Amino acid sequence: MNKKIGILIDYDFANKHIPPYPHPVFFSYESPRRIRAILEYFKNIKLFDNNKICKLNPKLVDESILHLAHSQYYIDTIKRLSKFGSSMLSEEVYITQDTFLIAQKAVGGVIASLESVLNREVSQSFALVRPPGHHALREQSSGLCIFNNIATSIYYLRERMDYTKKIAIIDIDNHFGDGLARYFYEDPSVLYFSVHEFDFLEGDIGFITELGAGEGLGTNINFPIPINTTDQNFMEFSEILTPIITQYSPDLIIIAAGFDMYFADPIGNCLLTSKSYYEFTRYILNLSEQICDGKLVFALEGGYSLIGLPVCVHAVLRALLNESFVQPQFEQFDFSDKSKKSEFLKIKKSLTKFLQKYWKLK
Ligand SMILES: [Zn+2]
Repeated sequence: MNKKIGILIDYDFANKHIPPYPHPVFFSYESPRRIRAILEYFKNIKLFDNNKICKLNPKLVDESILHLAHSQYYIDTIKRLSKFGSSMLSEEVYITQDTFLIAQKAVGGVIASLESVLNREVSQSFALVRPPGHHALREQSSGLCIFNNIATSIYYLRERMDYTKKIAIIDIDNHFGDGLARYFYEDPSVLYFSVHEFDFLEGDIGFITELGAGEGLGTNINFPIPINTTDQNFMEFSEILTPIITQYSPDLIIIAAGFDMYFADPIGNCLLTSKSYYEFTRYILNLSEQICDGKLVFALEGGYSLIGLPVCVHAVLRALLNESFVQPQFEQFDFSDKSKKSEFLKIKKSLTKFLQKYWKLK
């Protein structure tokens, strides 16, 4: 098959589910401007002139598909509040008149991206959807997320497409994907590997000791990293991931692609540049080609720097296309005094101790 990269876009993501600002006074970084910034950037660099890139459209999903991962009461709540016109589900999750539509479309976007790769219509794909999904729970919105886009899509494959093969989710969003972890904590058919910023003093959730339960023991893996992590150390998690994913041998790899570890992100506290996202994609593409015929799908999660987000998404695409990537000038920093080498060593050592019961590690 000739290389083709599918990009799922839909202009509703760039126009709808707008934070209710300025009245009542509320500010959210999760807004249509994120997708608009990416699409404008693509237009400027004439990305769609590249004949290896093709556009994908979201699949139309009905409520019964949402119901695979969410309770009927919760689905009805989102629908009811969208019909009402506005609401706040928590301090950060807002509802507008088009929230139900767009959250449903985000699920359809990830499903279409997965299907396009599984059907070998494209080599890899990237679902540019919002709102994000990795925190969403069966009964509850959480952390800017309404429906769990990736979990719902996996249940769709399982229950509607008779797809029973193993799936690995690699979550590189700055925040621990507690929703995804909970859905698949006892499920050995889905490996969840999360790299996330962790407050080692306060103790977030997403500990290295959360390893899964029952038959799923060993298939929930957390690689917590300290604040101010830079490009220098970020990829060190691969020393743990590579042997595990190789032994697990999934048929499909899904990336929960958050870009909020970016140095200029207003929510995350890490210091990555687009270079890390390019390197990560080269690494995971290569692994996926060795393990599962390159079946690799990116689904957008967080990432709130309107300048950085388009650059990072582009870095991923360049790597998927096997093309070189030049970092923009404004990212040329010297973070060499911020090495986290000793912290990373400790994390790898402790994780290895816990995981060697389930996996062959060095
Ligand atoms: Zn995040």
